[in-house]
Amino acid sequence: MGKSLRSCSFCGKDEFSVRKLIAGPGQAHICDACVSLCAEALSQEFPEFRRHAPTVLEDLPEGEEGNGISHSAASEPLVLKALSPTELKARLDEYVIGQEMTKKTLAVAVYNHYKRLVAQGICLSECPLASLEDEALKEVEIEKSNILLVGPTGSGKTLLARTLARILEVPFAIADATTLTEAGYVGEDVESIILRLLQAADYDVKRAECGIVYIDEIDKIGRKTDNVSISRDVSGEGVQQALLKILEGTDCHVPPKGGRKHPEQEYVRIRTDHILFICGGAFIGLDKIVSERIGRKAMGFGARKRGANDGIREKNPLARTQPADLIRFGLIPEFVGRLPVITVLAELGEEDFKHILSEPKNALIRQYTKLLALEGTALHFEAEAIQAIVEQALRSKTGARALRSILESVMFEIMYRLPAKKKAGEIADRVSITRATVEEELEARTSIA
Ligand code: ADP
Repeated sequence: MGKSLRSCSFCGKDEFSVRKLIAGPGQAHICDACVSLCAEALSQEFPEFRRHAPTVLEDLPEGEEGNGISHSAASEPLVLKALSPTELKARLDEYVIGQEMTKKTLAVAVYNHYKRLVAQGICLSECPLASLEDEALKEVEIEKSNILLVGPTGSGKTLLARTLARILEVPFAIADATTLTEAGYVGEDVESIILRLLQAADYDVKRAECGIVYIDEIDKIGRKTDNVSISRDVSGEGVQQALLKILEGTDCHVPPKGGRKHPEQEYVRIRTDHILFICGGAFIGLDKIVSERIGRKAMGFGARKRGANDGIREKNPLARTQPADLIRFGLIPEFVGRLPVITVLAELGEEDFKHILSEPKNALIRQYTKLLALEGTALHFEAEAIQAIVEQALRSKTGARALRSILESVMFEIMYRLPAKKKAGEIADRVSITRATVEEELEARTSIA
């Protein structure tokens, strides 16, 4: 028995006459063209809908290539903030606790990256560069330095990348390497990352081409077993090859409306040469690979005597990570070659967690303090309460990530009851969180779960 054709409940067109049919409850469906019309109607009435992507290609500004958006259709070149590496680091300090060396490394790498773009006339800067007198120097090409962040989960990798983009006011997109697949397989194409960046740039191609992309879980596209051998996982390697192209710099053709590539769809061309890629991963087991290499060297010819810094380094062998270790881990050499800046983040400890709770600009306790202040109530955390939260977070082994969910559990009942009390005229001037509050609330939440 043949299935009856599904059709759009708004315009009546069947599923073969539209690009995309979205199913709703019951038999309701809506097609892409009707979604566009609705978006247009909303944007005419409400200004907050106007910043969204043009959903109908014809609405896009006409460009050289006549495909809607083009290279030159976008606005003026991006004007970069004039921030020195030390200023960049100071701004990062406002949001990210610890990870001093990584912040410095990022500040220098990002500063040089954008200096390169300004030198090539891709971006403008609030602070112009000195003009070069030396002809030979003019010929020198500065290569792009993508960055690899190696560090445990919840140590601030994503936060650092996101904060950098925010400070510099450049478009930013995050991708998860584990959802990416080689073209032709089920999953996301690597182009989807660039599409996300284009969306973050409000479809301004020039801005997108100077953006920052963070690719998380990059370690998961290497070999998947713990077995440290030189053989590689073929499936992961395919994704690395695909990523390599955009990391190296290529003309990326992205379907502006998203979705899979389709022969009839028109594409936006984006060059990825100037996009800064920051890759991050926990690289579990990499420490063993590094230690083994160091051990082998220490036993071989030319082994040197122990130096003053050896103790610190042995504690965290990752600090001595070299490209060869990443290749042994399962990344292909070409891919490692495209990530010349490698920086290692430390696992955060008790003191870091305490600072994270209250010091950064958007610290969790500050956020709750603001939420309660808006009800006219002051919020106070006793030192023992903070200690209890931190102890719980340390037990969870997910780094600083755990702090948010713990604090949410602790504050849940208060956030639920306080507004009603206020409405009833029972003004609570001050709420104090004690160790007992923390333990009781966490106990209550876990027993519900
Ligand atoms: P990952 O290293 O796994 O990418 P994230 O950057 O996503 O970790 O961190 C998760 C959350 O934990 C962040 O949103 C932030 O609230 C907090 N966090 C992690 N590391 C730090 C840090 N060094 N300083 C401040 N907050 C942090």
